[in-house]
Amino acid sequence: MSPRPLDFPPPFDPSEAIAIPTDPPDERIQVGVCVVGAGPAGLACAIRLGQLMEEDEATAERLGEVPVAVIEKGKQPGSHLLSGAVVNPRALRTLFRGRPELDELPSYGEVPGEGVYLMTKSNAIRIPPPPTMRNHGNVIVSVAELGRWLAGKAEAGGAMLLPETAAQKLLVDHGVVRGIRTGDKGRGRNGEELPNFEPGSDITARVTVLAEGTAGHLTGAAVDRFGLEGAHPQLWALGVKEVWRVPKPLRQIVHTMGWPLRKRARYGEFGGSFIYPMGDDLVSLGFVAGLEYRDAEFSVHDVLQEFKTHKLVRKILDGGERVAWGAKTITEGGYQALPTRFTAPGLLLAGESAGLVNVPTLKGIHYAVESGRLAAEAAWRALRRGENPGRIGALDSYDDELRSSYVMRDLREVRNMRQAFDKGFFFGGAYASAMTVTKGRFPPKEFRSEPNGAHELIRTDRAKSYPKPDGKLTFDKLSSVFLSGNKTRDDQPNHIRIRRDVPLRVAELWVSMCPAQVYELGESDGEGTVTVQVNASNCVQCGAITAKGGRLTPPEGGSGPEYTNT
Ligand SMILES: Cc1cc2nc3c(=O)[nH]c(=O)nc-3n(C[C@H](O)[C@H](O)[C@H](O)COP(=O)(O)OP(=O)(O)OC[C@H]3O[C@@H](n4cnc5c(N)ncnc54)[C@H](O)[C@@H]3O)c2cc1C
Ligand code: SF4
Repeated sequence: MSPRPLDFPPPFDPSEAIAIPTDPPDERIQVGVCVVGAGPAGLACAIRLGQLMEEDEATAERLGEVPVAVIEKGKQPGSHLLSGAVVNPRALRTLFRGRPELDELPSYGEVPGEGVYLMTKSNAIRIPPPPTMRNHGNVIVSVAELGRWLAGKAEAGGAMLLPETAAQKLLVDHGVVRGIRTGDKGRGRNGEELPNFEPGSDITARVTVLAEGTAGHLTGAAVDRFGLEGAHPQLWALGVKEVWRVPKPLRQIVHTMGWPLRKRARYGEFGGSFIYPMGDDLVSLGFVAGLEYRDAEFSVHDVLQEFKTHKLVRKILDGGERVAWGAKTITEGGYQALPTRFTAPGLLLAGESAGLVNVPTLKGIHYAVESGRLAAEAAWRALRRGENPGRIGALDSYDDELRSSYVMRDLREVRNMRQAFDKGFFFGGAYASAMTVTKGRFPPKEFRSEPNGAHELIRTDRAKSYPKPDGKLTFDKLSSVFLSGNKTRDDQPNHIRIRRDVPLRVAELWVSMCPAQVYELGESDGEGTVTVQVNASNCVQCGAITAKGGRLTPPEGGSGPEYTNT
């Protein structure tokens, strides 16, 4: 029997990410609402709270000197944001309804037209866009740019932004979430205190909103602590993307299916590409593949390089230059994997922390914004009433509002689509069409998926088809990491938890999977077990290791990529 990544769990227990407050009460930083994550969800939440504070100063006063704090581990808001991105503007319109900000949104305009292609190695067959891929009226953005802009609006509304700060632990006391503890800074490789050591702090809050995005460190711990696991296991895909400066403008958005992925169910390869124009001279191009694939040599980074050698893509990039690169996972379990509740005493989950992504449409930004807004309103309702948000049920209105919103309706309609592709491309495609026509009513049963790491690994010489990097069109992983602006200090404690001695095939899987060349094969014991070397400072915190047998924890705040236009 071949090994499965899941059988080699990391030396990590979710309870390690939970603690009671330990700073003396007068040394704790007290805030009204603590939002973890300056992504679309966290920032929409902070912006809405700012609007509500403006309308009701008496309640705002009661929240103290820092009514809203937003904790962000990236160097600045936007540094860790990466997406396609074509955005459905609906939620942003609601957030800024009747306000001038709506006209200032940083965007590359409406989708000018779209093409969907079924790819083979030598051909690209244009097909009519399935309903889930129709993007008329949606707008093109860089989510890193959008994040920076939203952060400015949140600050203008009274939120305090704390960048370069990792939320390391969720503070839970007597079953109630009391805030977070930030990570220490200035520790050496073995955890020793360096001369610039700064201990973390307890940030206590009346309400804590987890908006950590994909594979969230505290989110995982909270789901475990409060028993919020969904009916089906959570799934992830890995997206690797590049931004190119091109001489000729692209006049449509492009989505592709098929090659270079293999269609047979035994490979478990599911995904596709996106190519979006960003104005006349930039193009955003990426490949997204589900992390349930079986082949230990599968590498999304290299599949993207392979994809670029296709004549359809070459034509778009011809004469151009790669100017940015990054990688990030997407939460893909959908409706069936949603947490049983989006709240716990003193806690709200928003955006991808709540699992809100529509996989067939590749959209999560408007759900993040909508859920962030609804989280703000629910927190405010409780705080305005003078209610204790730690009381069981005090924040339940969020759960009710989110469940009756269009977000949940959309996710329900596509609830089986992702899972159907477990059965192969053609079966999945046929089911997806039937689900679209019946708005999710067919099939009446629910398809179940195994966790991403639960599949036995195979090897089929997958890597043979990857092109040799030429430094012009195709690149190796190290030059990609360099372009991400990654500045992780290499003498800080290792933040990636994996079993170090594992079967060769699991080790090979990690080496191929990581888009940032973090893992290397070390010594072998001669009996099939190898030691895995970890170059943690390369890590761009994409989250893939959490899906495939390990656990990503946040490194020192300010580490990681410095994305600007991804
Ligand atoms: C390749 C790719 C393409 C995509 N394309 C599209 C698209 O075209 N359209 C679309 O709508 N959606 C798209 N999505 C999905 C969309 O980007 C996400 O669903 C959306 O960004 C989620 O927003 P969020 O605020 O929940 O999380 P994020 O955007 O991930 O933001 C979370 C923030 O929290 C911070 N954070 C996390 N943990 C901590 C911690 N412990 N302490 C401090 N800070 C922390 C992170 O650094 C980050 O800044 C795509 C995603 C990917 C990866
Ligand atoms: S080591 Fe970092 S970059 Fe590599 S797969 Fe894990 S999370 Fe992603």
